[in-house]
Amino acid sequence: MNSKVNFKKGDQVVVISGDDQGKKGKIVSIFPKKMQVIIEGVNFLKKHNKPTQKVPQGGIIKKEGALHISNIRLICNKCNKPTKIKRDSTKEGKRVRICKECGEIIDKV
Ligand SMILES: [Zn+2]
Repeated sequence: MNSKVNFKKGDQVVVISGDDQGKKGKIVSIFPKKMQVIIEGVNFLKKHNKPTQKVPQGGIIKKEGALHISNIRLICNKCNKPTKIKRDSTKEGKRVRICKECGEIIDKV
């Protein structure tokens, strides 16, 4: 199994399963070992903070939680569809990412 993370920071992606299905956002962090990413504005987790001297009532912090890459698809910047990514190289030997939907080169790696 190819366990490489084909996503990059700044990629526009859509969530394809779970509570946030259909939500779109930009990748802001990648954790290659866990095969997880954090997407801006998606999968908010509420974290309850214990009361402190500064904030005696405690508080709830909303923070984006990581999503496994199997739950997201890249939005192709050529055909605008959610797609899987194929890695390939051009005749010139440049590594590129290719959209599996339309076959166009998305960008150079
Ligand atoms: Zn495409």
